[in-house]
Amino acid sequence: MYDLIIIGSGPAGLSASIYARRAGFDVLVLEKNAMSGGQVLNTYEVDNYPGLPGISGFDLGMKFRQHAEDMEVPFETAQVTGIIDEKGAKTVIATDGKEEKRYETRAVLIATGASHALLHVPGEDRLTGRGVSYCATCDGAFFRGKTAAVVGGGDVAVEDAVFLARICAKVYLIHRRDSLRAAQSLQDAMFQYSNVEVIWDSVVEEICGQDQVEALKLRNLKQETEQTVETDGVFIAVGLRPNSELFREIVACDEAGYIIAGEDCTTQTEGIFAAGDVRTKSLRQIVTAVADGANAISAIFTKLHNK
Ligand code: NAP
Repeated sequence: MYDLIIIGSGPAGLSASIYARRAGFDVLVLEKNAMSGGQVLNTYEVDNYPGLPGISGFDLGMKFRQHAEDMEVPFETAQVTGIIDEKGAKTVIATDGKEEKRYETRAVLIATGASHALLHVPGEDRLTGRGVSYCATCDGAFFRGKTAAVVGGGDVAVEDAVFLARICAKVYLIHRRDSLRAAQSLQDAMFQYSNVEVIWDSVVEEICGQDQVEALKLRNLKQETEQTVETDGVFIAVGLRPNSELFREIVACDEAGYIIAGEDCTTQTEGIFAAGDVRTKSLRQIVTAVADGANAISAIFTKLHNK
C-alpha cells in the first residue's frame, strides 16, 4: 500500500514527487512513457520561470526530473487505465503494454496535464505529419527556409511564430480576432520579425494539399471574404484539452473537462487530488503547475495524518 501514487511526470507531478519525498511519503510516479515530461519539454524557450531566464523547456524539464531522481523518487512506466475507489483505499489500474498492473494507495494525485486541441477542419487529420503539426519546436526544422503558418493567438501560437521566424523565410500567424491574447512581451518579440505577417479576423476552413500541405483556405469573419494562402506547413496552436478522460467517472469535471479542484488541489472525491494543467485554474503556467505540486502535498499530508 503506497501513501501516494502520482499520475504524470510533468512539472506538477515532479514538483509533487519532490515534496512527497521530503514529507516522508511512500510515493510512486506513474508515467506514460519514460521521461513523459509534459508540455515543457516541447517549449523552445521559457522566459518567465524565476531565476532561469531563457532556459530551454527541455533543459528545465530535465532539471526538474534530475531533482526528483536525486530525491530517489521511484518512477514506473505504465499507462493508467482507471482508478477504483474503495472508501479509504484506492487502486490505480495500469498497463505496461503486456499485462495489467494494480497499485494500492491511500491517495492519488492526478497530474496528467493537457494536450493540444484540434481545429477539426478538412485536411487536418489527413495531412498530420505531412505539414500539419502541433509542435513547432519538434517539427519546425523541417520548414527551414520555407513558408509556415501558425493558427491561434495565445502564448503558444506567438511563441511558435517567433521560433519559426528565426528559421523560415515567411511565417503567417492566423488569428480569428483582431487582437492577440498572448503576453505582451511575446507579441513585442514577434513583431520585431519582418518575415511574420499576421492575418487577422480569419479562420482556417480547409488545409489543402495532395500528399503534403500546400495551402490554407481562410475565411475573414468580419468581411465574409475568402482567401487562399500558400504554405509548406501549418502549426496549430489553438489551446489545450485536459487529459482527464480516464477520470471523469471518479472526479467531478467542469464543462471543458478540467478536474474541479481549488488551490489546495482537493477534488470532490476524497483521497483524489489534481494538480497542474488538468485542474480548473485561471493561469496555466509552469510556475503555477509547480506550485500546485507543493500545495497538493501539503493537503495530502493533512489528509493522511488526520486519519
Ligand atoms: P490559449 O491561451 O487558450 O489560446 C488559444 C488561442 O487559440 C486563442 O487565441 C484562441 O482564440 C485560439 N483558438 C481557439 N480555438 C480556435 C479555433 N477553433 N480556431 C481558431 N482559433 C482558435 O492556449 P495556448 O496558447 O495553447 O496556451 C495554453 C496555456 O498555456 C495558456 O494558459 C498559456 O498562458 C499557457 N502558456 C504559457 C506560456 C508562457 O508563460 N511562456 C507558454 C505557453 C503556454 P481567442 O483568443 O479568440 O480565444
